Amino acid sequence: MKIEKYTFGIGDRFAHQGMAQLQAILKVREAGIDVHPVWNKSNREHLIIKTSPDDVRAEADAAVAASGWTGAYYVDADHIGLKTVDAFIPASDFFTLDVADFTGKAAEVNAVEAFLKAASRYSGSLSIPGIDRPFHLTEETVRGAAGKFLLAVQEAGRIYRYLEERKGKEAFVTEVSVDETDTPQNPVELFLILAMISEERIPIQTIAPKFTGRFNKGVDYVGDLGQFAKEFDEDLSVIAFAVREFGLPESLKLSVHSGSDKFSIYPIINRLIKKHSAGLHVKTAGTTWLEEVIGLAESGGEGLALVKEVYAQANEHFAELAAPYSTVIDIDVTKLPDPQSVMGWSSAQYANALRHVESSPDYNPDLRQLLHVGFKVAAGMGKRFTEALRANEEIVGRNVTENLFDRHLQPIFA
Ligand SMILES: [Zn+2]
Repeated sequence: MKIEKYTFGIGDRFAHQGMAQLQAILKVREAGIDVHPVWNKSNREHLIIKTSPDDVRAEADAAVAASGWTGAYYVDADHIGLKTVDAFIPASDFFTLDVADFTGKAAEVNAVEAFLKAASRYSGSLSIPGIDRPFHLTEETVRGAAGKFLLAVQEAGRIYRYLEERKGKEAFVTEVSVDETDTPQNPVELFLILAMISEERIPIQTIAPKFTGRFNKGVDYVGDLGQFAKEFDEDLSVIAFAVREFGLPESLKLSVHSGSDKFSIYPIINRLIKKHSAGLHVKTAGTTWLEEVIGLAESGGEGLALVKEVYAQANEHFAELAAPYSTVIDIDVTKLPDPQSVMGWSSAQYANALRHVESSPDYNPDLRQLLHVGFKVAAGMGKRFTEALRANEEIVGRNVTENLFDRHLQPIFA
């Protein structure tokens, strides 16, 4: 199974926006850009919402059948490890092996020595086509990278082999993710991680490093744009080189996690993937749940009342909701509106505070991040919430499609 050049991860907390999301991808294809959908949902989300991986498969298949989609599409077991993968095996054909917990821990001495030996031919000055200055690889550098990543890559190998036994060889797409680590990986480290992955014989097709800067959930990128551009450019050169050098799958490409709403880096990403003729995978998830909230706010009446209640409860349970996402949100609680005054808001006030339009004077990124992690509140409302979605399907769906098409797919790929 060889993944296409451009793929787009559509997460869907409540599994109601399969069609609306697919509409956005169909629109971008009408514009002549070949993008394929990947439904992604992590174990963490399933636990919070009390859904199962089979629900995601059912949603994806139903949306595809209803829309007449004929291209390839995937269901991604997002951020799984050996402890969590079993429930995802029947439904998924894309697996994101999350080995971040194994980074920074020492591998066995013999394995480190074996890797040093394998990598020794790259020591000294290493020129990578497309990068204007050579990398300098000393034993020190390689040992340092092995100390940080070798155990993690070995773990990825274990998960891969476990899956291969159950799903069959090349019957699924393999991604390796090290994005949820404390520090970003530079292009030299990416090169060495790919060397380790090739030694482990993992047919990796997408890799999710942690990039420089903050990728907070549901809001724009925070960081040095020049530095991001330089490293992204070099990462693309490293990947092309590693494919040739290590014989990794030709489809290997970068995967950008927490990829929704990073509007300031989309023009950079767009320019660089074109420059390198590179593929790209971008994962989004919570941005669609926020469009559901916006749609309900716009619908007025009961829908508006319901999302005001979601805000009030999210505000009250702030600490508990934010805890699992502490590394990927930055909320200034002093900038959160008082729930009492939100109760008096109109549809437009609520929608404008939440909708990610930075030029709008009412846009409030702190409120947006709080609601981003506040889907647990809506999950707790059960049918009340999902029935409101159904009752307001058109206005919600329109917001979902527009957000993905206008603010994501177009600027990233077009
Ligand atoms: Zn991730």
